[in-house]
Amino acid sequence: MFKINDNFCQLAESYLFSEVARRIAAFKEANPEAEIIRLGIGDVTIPLCPAAIEAMHAAVDDEANAATFRGYGPEQGYPFLREAIAEHDYRARGVEIAPDEIFVSDGAKSDTGNIGDILAASNRVAVTDPVYPVYVDTNVMAGRAGAPLAGGSFSKVVYLPVTAENGFVPALPEEKVDMIYLCYPNNPTGTALTREQLKAWVDYAAANGALILYDSAYEAFIRQEGVPHSIYEIEGAKKVAIEFRSFSKTAGFTGVRCGYTVVPKELKGVDSEGREVGLNHLWNRRQCTKFNGASYISQRGAAAIYTPEGRRQAREAVDYYMANAALMLSELRKAGFEVFGGENAPYVWLKTPDGMDSWAFFDLLLRECQVAGTPGSGFGPAGEGYFRLTAFNTLENTREALRRIVSRFA
Ligand SMILES: *Cc1c(COP(=O)(O)O)cnc(C)c1O
Repeated sequence: MFKINDNFCQLAESYLFSEVARRIAAFKEANPEAEIIRLGIGDVTIPLCPAAIEAMHAAVDDEANAATFRGYGPEQGYPFLREAIAEHDYRARGVEIAPDEIFVSDGAKSDTGNIGDILAASNRVAVTDPVYPVYVDTNVMAGRAGAPLAGGSFSKVVYLPVTAENGFVPALPEEKVDMIYLCYPNNPTGTALTREQLKAWVDYAAANGALILYDSAYEAFIRQEGVPHSIYEIEGAKKVAIEFRSFSKTAGFTGVRCGYTVVPKELKGVDSEGREVGLNHLWNRRQCTKFNGASYISQRGAAAIYTPEGRRQAREAVDYYMANAALMLSELRKAGFEVFGGENAPYVWLKTPDGMDSWAFFDLLLRECQVAGTPGSGFGPAGEGYFRLTAFNTLENTREALRRIVSRFA
């Protein structure tokens, strides 16, 4: 009989969001009149902006005419989009990234998951805890994570707790690690790193021969000065970091699908014989073999985000979510909660009252306020005692949810 990839048997069942849905459904069943407000949404809710929609309509028309029809495009993305990214996301911030260091894709989830293809299975992986589950699970699939332990962690993964105690700044690992996943602004905690805090990681990677996998999917939500939008704003980062970006949260492309990954030409690893190999070349080879490019229509839509009207319109949606986040911070503080994040990300991370466990607080909030969020423990052991609320609902619903929370807890 053929054999399956055993690593997949080590994966825990995706429990978090199915359990959240199960508990909401059970509550709804018992309380049919309850108007539940969902502040657990991890998806955008505002429709695509007119600039992107118009560009995509025009792209559909291109596909309808022999003269403008596009079949297979470049696996790395169309030059019109790679050049717009290099210009607006990097050069405008004083960072020189060449278009051929940018690989357009169908999103950051696939890229952060697929990047492991070009890295050795023997590399030691570090993640922050709590964490976006994709980083851990894809390393389990690749055989890099070791054996599952009680509590849902893995024997070979180095977990770096981020909690109120360390101000949500992960400490540098005590043991040697080879690959480090950093997501800033962070999902789920909503917190950010300053330039100095990120520099410590770039310096660590340079001194220890480690690779940083930097997910900046929430870059557009940054509001504070001193918070870097790209890891390449830090000197020396091109030699140690790959950066992942997405149009999903920035411009509402969660359904359309478009993102990109930057692999600088200066970035080199070593093969098993100790010879230096450029990662840009390896990733290009990987993409050309396993990926046939993001759709022409998506890429036209994404390019429209870089026009003056596209930028303004996309910004409006981000501003809307960030106004929700600001309201959440002030009202939750009024209700007596200790809250974090929400200033540079659409996520608010709160400490549960009286040391209540995350799931107990989920049930309490659902029962007494008819508000659904996400238990922090679902993102990793250090998330226990915390709770995530998102700013992606409407202002009206967010306001009503906060009114209920304030009247229950203040
Ligand atoms: C939403 C999100 C992404 C974006 O994923 P896409 O596949 O581009 O939609 C990436 N990283 C994190 C941490 C996210 O929360």
